[in-house]
Amino acid sequence: MSIKEYFASLFKGFYSLLKGMAVTGRELVTPKVTEQYPENRATLHIPERFRATLQFVYDDEGNHKCTACRTCERNCPNGTISITTRMVDLPNGKKKQKLDKYIYDLGSCTFCNLCVTSCPFHAIEFSNDFEQAVFQRKSLVKQLNYLPEKEEPAPAAQPAASAPAPAAVKAGDTEKTETQENKE
Ligand code: SF4
Ligand code: SF4
Repeated sequence: MSIKEYFASLFKGFYSLLKGMAVTGRELVTPKVTEQYPENRATLHIPERFRATLQFVYDDEGNHKCTACRTCERNCPNGTISITTRMVDLPNGKKKQKLDKYIYDLGSCTFCNLCVTSCPFHAIEFSNDFEQAVFQRKSLVKQLNYLPEKEEPAPAAQPAASAPAPAAVKAGDTEKTETQENKE
């Protein structure tokens, strides 16, 4: 290596060092963008459509709309949903299939949303509650119908049998009666 090449290489190294230091210096005065989680939990914005975990749609009275039709279970591509049912006796003497347990395994869910879009009763939805970290794998398996089931409503009371209406008097009968009275 000649002296000229030596100094050229030295200059290139020094220039490279300065270039790197310029980037570091610029970042030193740039405002921070680091999210202070979980301290900012109260003000954190999670997009409404973010799919964090599946849940039942419950109304204000704690009723859900799942009929245990199993459409979502059949449409789930990786067996994340498992539904068990039971037969219940209705007050009118008939039997009806009801949901027993709706089991969802968050650990195997790919968040494809096929279950939600295929449900004919809009009974399930995705929550955007992203804090789903747990210490044990089994804690990711959840029963979605966690509220107690409501009893079947009693059948509406039948109206009491009314007394038979008096037979209508035909016009001919009236004439006949009047004629008989005249004869008498
Ligand atoms: S969530 Fe919907 S599709 Fe799934 S079993 Fe219930 S009613 Fe059927
Ligand atoms: S989002 Fe997809 S993978 Fe997850 S439970 Fe629904 S159908 Fe299955």
